[in-house]
Amino acid sequence: MSELLEGKTVLILGIANRWSLAHAIAAACRREGARLILTYQGERLRLTVEELGAELGAARVLACDVSQDAELDRLAATLGQEGTKLDAVVHSIAFASREDLSRPFLETSRAGYALAQDVSAYSLVAVARAVAPLMTSGGSILTLTYLGSTRVVRNYNVMGVAKAALEASVRYLAADLGPSGIRVNAISAGPVKTASARGIKDFSKVLDAVAQLAPLRRNTDPAEVADTAVFLASDLGRGVTGNIIFVDAGFQIVGLSPA
Ligand code: NAP
Repeated sequence: MSELLEGKTVLILGIANRWSLAHAIAAACRREGARLILTYQGERLRLTVEELGAELGAARVLACDVSQDAELDRLAATLGQEGTKLDAVVHSIAFASREDLSRPFLETSRAGYALAQDVSAYSLVAVARAVAPLMTSGGSILTLTYLGSTRVVRNYNVMGVAKAALEASVRYLAADLGPSGIRVNAISAGPVKTASARGIKDFSKVLDAVAQLAPLRRNTDPAEVADTAVFLASDLGRGVTGNIIFVDAGFQIVGLSPA
């Protein structure tokens, strides 16, 4: 059977370690024959991501802090000079200060609000603008979001507001980039224990609640998120844009808890 991403190059931003959703996505894209280009935020993560990149068979591992326009420009210029054409881009990045993920939302500071919006929502716009010229045959841009964008999830707070902006950005970017054949979507993943998730106070209680109440009576496996990312990056997803696709064991449909 042919591989779904054979002949395609996929840029993946947001691997911090092997528990990152971006790592699962990279592994699935590689399994399907993609050429991988990975980025890491800064020097602190360089060795780790280079090692993971070697394990994954990545073609390139480059630095890129998405809060810095100059770094995004440099990434695009490096890839452009090498003649790299991108078919899919995965934005798997978010950040908010730990204190904003543990105290009441009402206490969110102006600076904390702006930081979460900048790294977790605006960066998708900046990434899309930087990479679109490299997607000369069209392709897929994907980001990761969470149910806290539309529902109140205790302690998700400022990140929920950033995810709401991220999801709206997906729709506006899909409208702008659709005529160039570039699709823009988000996967709304169920909670998964990753470094970012550990920053949210009482996160393990959220995992327990999902396992009890989700229609599938379990939590989300990162590999399920990754397989949906492969679908969106592949030609199978060619008609899908501007969408938020839930990969969450069905938790998002639950209202009052079933007996
Ligand atoms: P993760 O492994 O901690 O990944 C988050 C990544 O964002 C890290 O690689 C982090 O790098 C990177 N990052 C933060 N600021 C950055 C910047 N300025 N420039 C470049 N990279 C930056 O956690 P994850 O759970 O896989 O998160 C990936 C995405 O999935 C996020 O958008 C998250 O909101 C979303 N998501 C997660 C869950 C969940 O339950 N885990 C559920 C739904 C959606 P550093 O480590 O260097 O900061």
